[in-house]
Amino acid sequence: MMVATYSFQVGRLQCAVIQDGGVVGPVERIAGMFPDIPHDSLERELLRHGFDLNALPFSLNVLLVDTGAQRVLMDTGEGLPDSQLLDGLRALGVAPEAIDTVILTHGHRDHIGGIVDGDGKLIYANARYVMWRSEWEHWLAVGQQPDERSQYIRRNLIPIQDRVTLIEAEAEIVPGICVLPAPGHTVGHIALLLESDGERLLHIVDAAHQPVQVTITEWSPRFDMQPDRAQQTRRALVERAAREKLLVAAYHFGFPGLGNVMEQDGELVWQAAEI
Ligand SMILES: [Zn+2]
Repeated sequence: MMVATYSFQVGRLQCAVIQDGGVVGPVERIAGMFPDIPHDSLERELLRHGFDLNALPFSLNVLLVDTGAQRVLMDTGEGLPDSQLLDGLRALGVAPEAIDTVILTHGHRDHIGGIVDGDGKLIYANARYVMWRSEWEHWLAVGQQPDERSQYIRRNLIPIQDRVTLIEAEAEIVPGICVLPAPGHTVGHIALLLESDGERLLHIVDAAHQPVQVTITEWSPRFDMQPDRAQQTRRALVERAAREKLLVAAYHFGFPGLGNVMEQDGELVWQAAEI
């Protein structure tokens, strides 16, 4: 099967979204992500936002940015056995060894599971890694627990411990790519702001998992570790995107997960980019 990729530019930054994986499912799947939201409210909002209740997308959208000087990958996808990321990179003519920097937005499996291959070897053999310090420390501690669930953490994080740069404040990682703290989904979850030639892209990563959360920022999925903080972060990011008219990327929205936050009848709504 062909891997979905979508190339676009932000100023002089050459960008591509690669679909590491994705499903289209019925509303029950989304309801499972939001167990605290009454089912009828969820259905009503999804319908009001124009979704087909039998075909709701959930994607893993990995962003690749070529700055001209560096190739930067935002997360590594879920890894074996289902990951499509390496095929997507191949389709774009990018060898894994050519990746200079990997920014790890947080420690969930669908974001760090693809750091190593089946033999435990680093896939992006020449890359340095970047992660928020509290996020790194949190997952390393979780990874010390001997349960099955933590295995992916040990497998993927231990091999990069000599290559990871831990950051604690907003920072420009490479020219044109800035890391912003966006806590709540996890303790040290980060968002990214790309800027070049006056054009900007805000990558909200997992600050929202479903476009209706752009409108109803109070809705947190069960994977938000700190729901109150996640809500504040989500609201701040979508309000900024609307105010500054930013192009927005979201890791889990329907592929390629690009769009804008628009004000419509007194509320903010997601408008997917036409591709
Ligand atoms: Zn995720």
